[in-house]
Formats: sequence, C-alpha cells, structure tokens
Amino acid sequence: MSASGIDPRPNLLGLDRQELAAALAPLGEPAYRARQIWDAIHLRLALDFEAMTELAKPLRRSLAEHFRVTLPAVADRHLSQDGTTKFLFRLDDGATVEAVDIPDRNRRTLCISSQAGCALACRFCVTGYWGAGRDLTAAEIVGQVWAIRSLQAIEGRLNLVFMGMGEPLLNLAAVRRALAVMAPTISPRRITLSTVGLLPGLEELGRWPERPNLAISLHAPDDRRRSELMPVNRTHPLPELMTALRRYPLEPRRRLTFEYLLIAGFNDADRDADQLAALLRGLPAKVNLIPLNPDPVLPHAWQPPAPERVDAFRARLERHGLTATVRRRRGDDVAAACGQLRAFGREPRGFRRSQLSL
Ligand code: SAH
Repeated sequence: MSASGIDPRPNLLGLDRQELAAALAPLGEPAYRARQIWDAIHLRLALDFEAMTELAKPLRRSLAEHFRVTLPAVADRHLSQDGTTKFLFRLDDGATVEAVDIPDRNRRTLCISSQAGCALACRFCVTGYWGAGRDLTAAEIVGQVWAIRSLQAIEGRLNLVFMGMGEPLLNLAAVRRALAVMAPTISPRRITLSTVGLLPGLEELGRWPERPNLAISLHAPDDRRRSELMPVNRTHPLPELMTALRRYPLEPRRRLTFEYLLIAGFNDADRDADQLAALLRGLPAKVNLIPLNPDPVLPHAWQPPAPERVDAFRARLERHGLTATVRRRRGDDVAAACGQLRAFGREPRGFRRSQLSL
C-alpha cells in the first residue's frame, strides 16, 4: 500500500492479451504463461494468483508481488421487483459508480458507467445533476462487468450498454481498451455505446477497425429545444451532428439508434414526430423512445406523456417508415432506471431548477 492507501500494483484486469504479455515479460516466463494467466483472469474470473494452481508456487508469489487483479468493491446492491439489480461500486480512490443488470427472457443487458459522474449537465439526467467525476480506467470498466458476472448467475446472451454514468466519448481511450479486453467474451456487436454526440469522439470512433453499436441521445427535433435540454448542443448543434452521423462509417446491416426522451407537452406532439422523421430521413436509423423517468431532483412539471400519447408518437414515426420502439422502464423502484443513476453520497452541483418552455 502507498501512503494514499491505494495499492500501487498494476491491476491486470485492464490489460488485453498483448499488454499482459508485455507486462509479464520482465518475469522471464515463456509466452504461453501469459495466455494461461489471461484465461484464468478473464475466463475463470480468478482474482487470486494463489488459486492459479497451474502455475508454479514461486511464479504465483512473484505475480502477487508485482501485480493484482481486483474488482471494484460492491458498496450496495438493490434488487428490483422486476428482476433488475442495481450495483453501487466503490473504486480504489473512494469514487463511486453505478451499474445495472437487466435480465430479459433469455438475454441479459448490463448497463455500465464510463465516468464517475458527468460534466455534461443534461437537465433531465440525475447523473448530470450530481456533477462531474473522473474518468474510469479500463480496469474499472471491465471490473464492473466481471464483478456482475461473478456475482450473478449469468446464462444466455450478454449485452453491454454504455448507458450508465458518464459520457463514453469523453473517455474513449479507456473504453477502447476495455472493449479489447472483453472482446473474446463479449463481441463488439453486442455492445452499444450511447453518446450525446461529441464530434471529435465520433470521428475517432469511426476510425476503429471494430466498432460497437452507436446510440445517439437526441431527445429533441430542433436546436432550440435540444439546447434547452442539453447544454452540449450549443457546442455541437444539430446540423453539424447530423452531417457527422451521415458520414459515420456504419457496417453493413447496422443502424444507428436514436434515443428520444419523451417529456409531456415539450417534445411529444405529432408535429414533433414529423420533425424528427424529417431530421432522420435517409439515415439507417431506428428510434428508441424513452418516456421520462421523473425524479425528485427534476422540476415537478417534467413528466412522461400518457401511455396513449407515447404510443401515438411511436405510430406516427412508423408511418414515416421509421422503426420505433418504446423503452420499458426497468428497475425504477430501486432508482436504477435511465437517468436515475446518481451514486449516492456525493454532493450535487446545485442546478438551477428552472422550468422548460412547456
Ligand atoms: N452520456 C451518454 C451515456 C449516458 S446514457 C448519453 O447521454 O447518451 C443515459 C441514458 O439515460 C440516455 O439515453 C439518457 O437520455 C437517458 N436518461 C437520462 N435521464 C433520463 C430520465 N430522467 N428519464 C429517462 N431517461 C433518461
């Protein structure tokens, strides 16, 4: 332990196969050792070198001297009535993040965080209300997934969504590394990265040889309302975002997902659906409608539309030829639903609680 109480040994959880081989090189072991150790960590989820009995004792001891394999600590866990589990993880330096395990028939989706907080201050989002936090390391991103894998009996298909706390395009280096580490277990095709649409990040992502699915948090069909909801829209307004997305190199048969929050009386009218369809015309797109999850920190007047309005909005988009789905609310009884992740115990930034122009 160092003076700060943080273990200085590198956490092997954040290294892909090649990086692990490079880290182990000074120990002078043959190359297949790195593969054995990688498999033990990532396939068997072995955290303790002593448990790697296929390795000779002196090697186990020397590994423990130089390295560690640690998952984030589970500080709290809430099981929702619908089977969703929310985890609060405490990281080495005390920062906390949330992740959610959402079972759905024969598949399972883990919603994980990329930052311990969020600087973007979207006005409907509780994480934004609580303010910025630091970037997570690759080991901390992989750690959330591996911790849930080791605690929950996970069978069937596993999907990952970067829709927890933080903006993944602001922490792309760690996200990329985490994806590389997880690739043998979870293919990038099963991973979705959700973003407000930062142009430099989109450009970088477009250059990756293997890309996860992309979801864009759109939420409004015009600049006036999008800027009202999302301050980032003033820096990257819609025309620029849409141009960048039209240029984005989508793989064959893949589509962009557009997330659209529905707020009663603000962006849920038929003409808003028409405007949204016009904005997306010609793009390989599907729309995921998210009825707003109200929260005590959000202005009281912000409510989801009635279910009939949500359905009418969806039907209207479909009449324009768009595929549109409505996101079911999961885990809301334990504050694990979209936009409700706050990693309790932090001080809020103290938003202005002004009303929207409803
Ligand atoms: N920063 C990225 C990743 C976080 S995703 C992004 O914004 O895409 C978080 C998801 O939860 C987004 O789709 C966001 O729009 C949604 N969300 C945030 N607050 C919400 C709320 N109050 N009700 C419903 N969904 C919300």
